[in-house]
Amino acid sequence: MPQKTKNTPMMEQYLAVKEQYPDAFLFYRLGDFYEMFYDDAIKGSQLLELTLTTRNKNAADKIPMCGVPHHAAQNYIDILVDQGYKVAICEQMEDPKLAKGMVKREVIQLVTPGTMIDPSASEAKENNYLTALHEDEGKYGLAYVDLSTGELKTATLDSISLVLNELMSLRTKEIVIDASVTKESLAKIAVLKVLVSKQDDVKESSETSYTIQDLKNSLEIKVVQHLVTYLNVTQKRSLGHLQRAVHYEPTDFLKMDSYSKRNLEILQNSRTGKKQGTLLWLLDATKTAMGGRLLKQWLERPLLDAKKIVSRQNKTESLLQHYFERSTLQEELTSVYDLERLAGRVAFGNVNGRDLIQLKQSLQQVPKISYVLNELDDGNFTDLLKQLDPVEDVVDLIENAIVDEPPISVKDGGMIKEGYNTELDEYTDAMKNGKRWLAEMEAQERQITGINNLKIGFNRVFGYYIEVSKAHLAKLPAERYERKQTLTNAERFITPELKEKEAMILGAESKATELEYQLFADIRERIKEQIKRLQRLAHAIAILDVLQCFAVVSERAHFIKPKLTVNKHDIEVIGGWHPVVQQVMGKQSYIPNDVVMSAKLNILLITGPNMSGKSTYMRQLALTVVMAQIGCFVPAKSALLPVFDQIFTRIGAADDLIAGQSTFMVEMKEANHALSYATRNSLILFDEIGRGTATYDGMALAQAIIEYIHDHVFAKTLFSTHYHELTALSEKLPALQNIHVGAVEKNGDLIFLHKMQPGAADKSYGIHVAKLAGMPEKLLKRADHILGELESKNKKPAVTKPLVEVDPTDELPAENSEEQLQIKEEQLSLFEPTQTPFKKSDRKVLT
Ligand code: ADP
Repeated sequence: MPQKTKNTPMMEQYLAVKEQYPDAFLFYRLGDFYEMFYDDAIKGSQLLELTLTTRNKNAADKIPMCGVPHHAAQNYIDILVDQGYKVAICEQMEDPKLAKGMVKREVIQLVTPGTMIDPSASEAKENNYLTALHEDEGKYGLAYVDLSTGELKTATLDSISLVLNELMSLRTKEIVIDASVTKESLAKIAVLKVLVSKQDDVKESSETSYTIQDLKNSLEIKVVQHLVTYLNVTQKRSLGHLQRAVHYEPTDFLKMDSYSKRNLEILQNSRTGKKQGTLLWLLDATKTAMGGRLLKQWLERPLLDAKKIVSRQNKTESLLQHYFERSTLQEELTSVYDLERLAGRVAFGNVNGRDLIQLKQSLQQVPKISYVLNELDDGNFTDLLKQLDPVEDVVDLIENAIVDEPPISVKDGGMIKEGYNTELDEYTDAMKNGKRWLAEMEAQERQITGINNLKIGFNRVFGYYIEVSKAHLAKLPAERYERKQTLTNAERFITPELKEKEAMILGAESKATELEYQLFADIRERIKEQIKRLQRLAHAIAILDVLQCFAVVSERAHFIKPKLTVNKHDIEVIGGWHPVVQQVMGKQSYIPNDVVMSAKLNILLITGPNMSGKSTYMRQLALTVVMAQIGCFVPAKSALLPVFDQIFTRIGAADDLIAGQSTFMVEMKEANHALSYATRNSLILFDEIGRGTATYDGMALAQAIIEYIHDHVFAKTLFSTHYHELTALSEKLPALQNIHVGAVEKNGDLIFLHKMQPGAADKSYGIHVAKLAGMPEKLLKRADHILGELESKNKKPAVTKPLVEVDPTDELPAENSEEQLQIKEEQLSLFEPTQTPFKKSDRKVLT
């Protein structure tokens, strides 16, 4: 940067502002442009594809510069913020024409990824979360806010991995930290590649004290105060729509780590990262943006409280059974705009007349919605009905004050209805009459002078004037007419009378626009006082919307109401299906399956050929559980389910390479995570655990894991494996049962039945799959031969020594050489420190 002393006063001012925002692009208002200078200009011009120019071209120290027109600035700001940058908007705080000396400029807002409030239409159903973190002796206060809706929640978490999980679930765009957050924690957070902003101190404000009112825990109070201070500092305006922070316990909800959510494709397709092909995609028949966002939140946090689950299910059922009322409800909901975000914009002070009309129209739907719910008359909606406050005072206010089709701008008038304010009506009259006066005067002047093409016109420099063409000039009497302007063919005059009218007309117009703006601001303030009511209403409507969506989808897809077995552990899903796979492949081709596990049966060991439907079956159960616990109906003929507290999955995903870790390491970590945290109320899905390492290794681990779950964890577990030797475990472990996917051979070809059957599969069909894959005939024959030899050597696998079994799919030595036996012994002593692939800390749960 150049020496400050050399700079012009304007650049001095620029640099002083920039110093306060070193990590943001500074959009510096200069007339009709926002300009960027120095490094901002160089980088900005690249990111925004702008022409890079220079200021003081002739000087030795040229200043790089680029700019965007102020009316198009929002687009450019969005591009930068979307890419994770911050933009400080520095405005001219006075009219440059009236300013004495340097025009005063101030940053009026710092736009950051976590504080974007004007989402594009495609993001209407997304929340944009800003999250703050405060650390104290290994405990973490976490708070998150959606600035567009005012939603604010906080929790205390015991470990950084829980924090990471929460941050991933929230898909937070920005993390605010203070000095308490340790370097170690920061390093872990860095993996998420999310913008981290600092807010070291707390500045008291009405918002910092309001939002913490319901909190008791000091860690949570601190983190909320930091978060709100950050909002105050960056937004520099009223944030009256911020809601009181709500404390939540992550343990109040069905817990799934982010791997599991991704594996199960609840919100995101694991290949594309998009919504298509997910449970959300299947379920989303919401009619409002608020409902869309709430559905996602429910999917992120299924319930644990059976009463609450049943209450949602009953509502779903009621709407499902009342087709007519439901259709009406849907129709009414379609006309409800995004009340939450409208309320946010009222508070933010950036609503316009059109927003208020949308607000009015949305509120006018409320009595209709209440009417429909009353019609249902079954008591299920009593609680929601109470919250459907039509906020009539706001409707009346807007109805009386705002015209039906107001302009976009709030600064140019034309918004306020006649009859709302007498002063305004007088000005409007003067404006209207003014036009008539002028027409009358024109006619009069023509008559007096006898000049038929005399006309009255207007320009900015002289105001109203009388124009007479040169040919008729002689007819004009000298008195009263004062010459103002000479054109080639005409001359322009003014008269005292004309100036008098002009003063009235122009005065009225500018006074009217000014008054309209004041009246509008006043209306906005009055609505702002009702924001809490609007937010409560918005929430109730969002809930209704999600429930109608459950009803619609459940009816369409023939889902049924599941029964919950509270405090029992039976699962009995009859004729169930994977809702997304079935939707994609068509109902005809999908084979329904049962999952039956009595209270005494904890582990289903699933065998069957590759591609036969094992992991689909496991996912099917998990999705059924999630759907049941959000209050939706489930894909089955009948379903009896316990309320699960957590779901753990280790299901082979295509993209197993996460952050440079090997597949096997990831597999072991996830397995370890499940074994450490699962309870007897959890659901574990393990798909071919152990296949990532050598056969003996893998099989030994798989068996040890099964035994561990059987003897210590007691969670309901579906375990699929291609180690057939493991099926012998059913003789030893009473809470384990074998099931397998049926397949039939026809003329040497393999046909999958996709049907789960009791007992172990008799073959692994690996060679058949290889055949399907098109391997050479010769190779397949050889494999068949080897398999035959192996099978004749080891007639019956025994549980006590399953580890010495050889898997036919493994690389095969010709004989059991001495070297081989040695390997077996080594594998048997797998849990000795020198042999184990685990770290010490990972190992403890397996021994
Ligand atoms: P596995 O885990 O045994 O390798 P998957 O569960 O991945 O097999 O299923 C492989 C394919 O089989 C799926 O993509 C699906 O097309 C089909 N499939 C799975 N389950 C069924 C079913 N119940 N009915 C019909 N097709 C199924």
